[in-house]
Amino acid sequence: MTTTLAVGGPTARSPSVVGAARPPNRRAQQITGRTYLSHSQISLMRSCPKKFSFLYVEKAPPDFIPNSLIFGGSIHAALELHYRCKLEGLSVTYEALLSAFHDAWRQQLHKAREAAGHDVPVQFAKNQDVDTAHALAARMITAFLASPLASPKGVIVGIEEELRIILDPQLPDVLAKVDLLTHTDNSLHVIDFKTSRSEWKDQKARESADQLLLYGSTVQKMAQAIDLAVKLHFAVLTKHKAPRVQLLPVTLDDGRIQTLREDVNQIWQAIQSGHFYPSPSPMNCSTCPFKSRCPVFAR
Ligand code: SF4
Repeated sequence: MTTTLAVGGPTARSPSVVGAARPPNRRAQQITGRTYLSHSQISLMRSCPKKFSFLYVEKAPPDFIPNSLIFGGSIHAALELHYRCKLEGLSVTYEALLSAFHDAWRQQLHKAREAAGHDVPVQFAKNQDVDTAHALAARMITAFLASPLASPKGVIVGIEEELRIILDPQLPDVLAKVDLLTHTDNSLHVIDFKTSRSEWKDQKARESADQLLLYGSTVQKMAQAIDLAVKLHFAVLTKHKAPRVQLLPVTLDDGRIQTLREDVNQIWQAIQSGHFYPSPSPMNCSTCPFKSRCPVFAR
């Protein structure tokens, strides 16, 4: 389900009406084909605007599909099935969750290849292939099922909820997807799942908090109406040989929301003016599927 909310006012309107009617949404559609900005688009503009352009503006065919992309989405699909069954009062087996992972992995690969327009290969991390990746998924699902996260306290009130957020009237809606929303006696808990090669420290949670802060600021308006506090958490599943499951809190901070609003405004200005410069770095470029067409490497 998609809901549209205005940060600073608990306004909920039909997403189709907002998506079609607001001028910044129409402008975003002209540039990227979408009537919104997503959190991953904002992150990509921050890390490399040229890669953003290849992916969202030029829609250039990639050299490969990073396994990390389809792997994370497929783990999410398995967790989604787990929580949907819990919500319905049904039990679900480990085998069913693993099967959900495999189905999602195949579907996402098919979708990515369709979008690429050719039979693009999957690129795995060093010493990894499809079998080791799927064995890792099995270990991660086992670790998840053994963790307290598999049976969250309180009542599940939302799974994979899409929110379209109006951060500023001059900006397109920002699309955010809340992985899990639960309700305990006096709090609404917003939980975002991540898969990671290493454990997260508090510093990493703080640095990655924008997405959760966006969700929190919108849910806060609804929570206040029923006298509930909002609590934000990252749930991290590591890709270790023996995967670990972490739950890290993030503080809802109004000052940070204001900074985020200004930051997104600047990013939107750059997108509109077509200011898509390459930002090479070992971290950005080593996994970039557009390296073969990037002007930095052509030189
Ligand atoms: S190769 Fe590096 S600089 Fe070029 S688009 Fe990719 S991430 Fe950006």
